[in-house]
Amino acid sequence: MKISEIFGMNTFNQGIMKEKLPKNVFEKLVNTMEIGEPLDINIADSVAHAMKEWALEQGATHYCHWFQPLSRGTAEKHDSFLSPESLKNGKVIERFNRSQLVQAEPDASSFPSGGMRTTFEARGYTAWDPTTPAFIIKRAGSSTLCIPSVFTSYNGDALDKKTPLLRSIKVLNETTKNILETLGSKTSGVYPTLGVEQEYFLIPKDMFEKRPDLKLTGRTLIGMESPKGQKLEDHYFGTIKDNVLEFMNVLETEAYKLGIPITTRHNEVAPCQFEFAPIFQNSNISNDQNRLLMEIMPGLARKYGFECLFHEKPFNWINGSGKHNNWSIMTYEGKNLLDPGTSFDEQLDFLIFIVIVLHGINKRSDLLRASIAPPGNDFRLGANEAPPGIISIFLGDTITSILDRISKGEFTEETSEEQYIKFGLNQLPDLVKDNTDRNRTSPFAFTGNKFEFRAVGSSQSVGFPNTFLNAIISESMDEVNKYLTKTLNSKEPIEAKLATIKYFYNKSKPIVFNGNNYGEDWVIEANSRGLVNKKNSYEALLALNDDKNLKFLDKIGILTQREMSARFSIDIHHLRRIIEIEANTLVYMVKSGVVPTLLRYIKEIGMDSNADSVLSKSNAYMKLKENYIYLLDNLYEETEKLENLLVRLDEISDDVEGARIATEDIRPLMEKIRVYCDNIESKVPKKMWPYPSYIDILHSS
Ligand code: ADP
Ligand code: MG
Repeated sequence: MKISEIFGMNTFNQGIMKEKLPKNVFEKLVNTMEIGEPLDINIADSVAHAMKEWALEQGATHYCHWFQPLSRGTAEKHDSFLSPESLKNGKVIERFNRSQLVQAEPDASSFPSGGMRTTFEARGYTAWDPTTPAFIIKRAGSSTLCIPSVFTSYNGDALDKKTPLLRSIKVLNETTKNILETLGSKTSGVYPTLGVEQEYFLIPKDMFEKRPDLKLTGRTLIGMESPKGQKLEDHYFGTIKDNVLEFMNVLETEAYKLGIPITTRHNEVAPCQFEFAPIFQNSNISNDQNRLLMEIMPGLARKYGFECLFHEKPFNWINGSGKHNNWSIMTYEGKNLLDPGTSFDEQLDFLIFIVIVLHGINKRSDLLRASIAPPGNDFRLGANEAPPGIISIFLGDTITSILDRISKGEFTEETSEEQYIKFGLNQLPDLVKDNTDRNRTSPFAFTGNKFEFRAVGSSQSVGFPNTFLNAIISESMDEVNKYLTKTLNSKEPIEAKLATIKYFYNKSKPIVFNGNNYGEDWVIEANSRGLVNKKNSYEALLALNDDKNLKFLDKIGILTQREMSARFSIDIHHLRRIIEIEANTLVYMVKSGVVPTLLRYIKEIGMDSNADSVLSKSNAYMKLKENYIYLLDNLYEETEKLENLLVRLDEISDDVEGARIATEDIRPLMEKIRVYCDNIESKVPKKMWPYPSYIDILHSS
């Protein structure tokens, strides 16, 4: 079947709307969806009716408000289309009206609110987000109409990840429109674009089932290194295996039906690792669709005998997974503001937007770092496969050298055509494209006409990183706009723009780094530049509770101080819990798996006294025996330490202190225990080892 024939067939898309809605209602709804016009609530009846008709035709029996709570991926509470008032003479009819579409009141009191709700006002409200299409999920013989929604408390606090993102999109629109006006180019509005590259692992399901660590924590807590691992680099872009391709195909078909425009699929660097990337869209839609994709992938994978892993670091010694977040700003008229353009004027404006990004991120890098701190990202960031915890920006040599020249005053208002060519500005678009895809080590890289935020973790929602990014850039838009406006009072436009670029470039230069982010030298240099280096999620998350950040997000209208504090407490609690679960799982595996296996083996070889007497002449045998005892004792001792630490942790009610102990004391101890376990795995017979090995999991056919 052609993609074009099935694309969006399970969504309440514009084609369906046009067919089913009165013309004026259709136009109003499209304006809301496409150019962010406030929804005229009077059209909701009509939309609800059309949506119900369409959903029933598709076989839907239920509907739900589909939302993104703070604790995890998505949530849904299904209600059937049956209405109690229609129950007459044993017959019913399907109903779905405006109030059911627009607002729902799930008894959602068990979702974490970070203290924003007390029990008596525990109810949360979901409200339809008309800027992204409703869709039907068909699975297990059931069809449900899903209405993308925001989730708020009784007094309007955002209890989800979508509300702040929507607010940030709105603020970015306003601030960008203002600066565009100062620059002399009018637009009816802008929106942030987002293209999400999703990395994931597919491993044999039966092996997954046999590993408590994978089942309970999403990653392997122990496991001897595979001698091959990714050393031959033969997986990246390799031929996709048939069973994987089959899964990808079915998944893509489902995605197309849901209007998710996946374009790229390939093998990633690590064995069993893959990537999907859709075509970029408005951030709000891309965020919804990434969540949706992450929801349908595991179920489909299981049908094909795989378990799908989104954890940032399921296996040691091979790459973990990230989620590259490609970001730009687009006008409603279709102009990408990060496209260098071809004329001198266009390119000056482009450079203004570049310094806006530099200035914003330089000023608020701690917030951006805090937005990429799911517990699993600690194993990835700074581990020579992903950028370090230090936020810096890669611009490439061409743009950097032009900015350097502007800052030295080499460009003037009188810059002639000849000079313009000499400086290479006329070739900017080509040079930039050539030059900017080379540095894969940067956490935030300019890639020709967008920035690629590469440090985002594979398991996390892109809601938070994009909310903060939009907020940071919005603030910078305002500051740059103010400076430019003031400068325009005394200078000609070109000169004023050059002065603005120079001022903000000089101010934010430390954040620009075109070198190797994986190198040790960079850590030292970044330190001397005064850049923050938050080495783990615990340190990174503290920025969410920093007074200056709380005030900033409140003032700009994206998250109130209450909402931010709630997020901080939820995230820090989550971090602590995840580490606790991992540590307890490790203790369980050591005691129920590793120690008994080693004991059994020691007994088995030690019991044969004949062999012992013969073998006692062997140095190797004696060494091995000694080593087994050494490993057993040390493993046991360290595990006892871990157990004691967990008891201590249990007594600590303050989550911040709990997360600190978990990160600084428990995690290193877990690593130490792992070394003993992996060593033991390499020394006992394969058939005795209670868990599938890395070799089995990563290199099975
Ligand atoms: P690579 O792996 O080389 O970085 P991919 O093709 O895997 O590139 O992914 C690039 C992603 O960037 C795609 O999702 C693409 O749609 C997205 N993208 C391209 N242009 C823009 C843009 N202007 N704004 C946001 N995302 C973009
Ligand atoms: Mg890619």
